[in-house]
Amino acid sequence: MARMPEKIIDFHVHLFPDKLFDAIWKSFLKHYHWNIIHQYYYQECIERLRQAGVGVMVYSNYAHRAGIAEGLNAWNIKILQEYDDLYCFAAYHPDDEHALDMARRLLENPRILGFKLQLLVQNFYPFDERLFPLYELVIRKNKHLLFHTGTGPVGNQYVGLEPFMKVLEKFPELPATVAHLGAHEYAGFFGLLERYPGLYLDTAFCFLPPPYEGYNLGAGYLEKYKSRILYGSDYPNLITPWEAEIENLLQMNLSQEFYDKVFHDNGMALIRSLT
Ligand SMILES: [Zn+2]
Repeated sequence: MARMPEKIIDFHVHLFPDKLFDAIWKSFLKHYHWNIIHQYYYQECIERLRQAGVGVMVYSNYAHRAGIAEGLNAWNIKILQEYDDLYCFAAYHPDDEHALDMARRLLENPRILGFKLQLLVQNFYPFDERLFPLYELVIRKNKHLLFHTGTGPVGNQYVGLEPFMKVLEKFPELPATVAHLGAHEYAGFFGLLERYPGLYLDTAFCFLPPPYEGYNLGAGYLEKYKSRILYGSDYPNLITPWEAEIENLLQMNLSQEFYDKVFHDNGMALIRSLT
């Protein structure tokens, strides 16, 4: 049986100021009937993940509307100073005045790896022209993007393989991670890895225990693309216990190399290349 690396790197954690967390948990309940089981604020999230064996954490937050990214990012800078081994995908909204100036300033911070775009919630297309200057900046500065651009848990016109492919046609070198292995269009998003060398996929929410459905294409893709997959938990916004996805992945009996790379080495190499 394979082992986990001694310290896990979690590439998909969420940390928000307390009041925003409260609002997000309420909205999950209202929109998805999801009862978030770990309703912990940021200090407790970090402590609990550390106790569970997570070393480096990469967290994100996002601006669900214009006007809040700047405040969120001030908070990000503050908590990055409070903790070691913490990295961030910062918030961005293209309608904010001076959005790009803010982005430029933030990328000077080595612990800010880039930006999170949550297209399902932010309600714009990934190929929206207003984002092009941001993409150009991220590419020029050798930083990275984290996209929620899949159709899980629900879709809208802004998410899915097709709109995302339009961005890659224009920016084939886009350095980005697609959250949730691109759920629900797994095969399509795995297929992109062949053509676009800057892309990674993360595992968050794909290996939940029944009755939830998740990744269903078996071991083949996981082994083939193990150098391009990053473990992510989505902690604390979980609907099943934190360890369930790790146990499910272990039970798939993949190669030891898979667990070493996905739970540690790929994340470490990517962070080193960005900082
Ligand atoms: Zn997430």
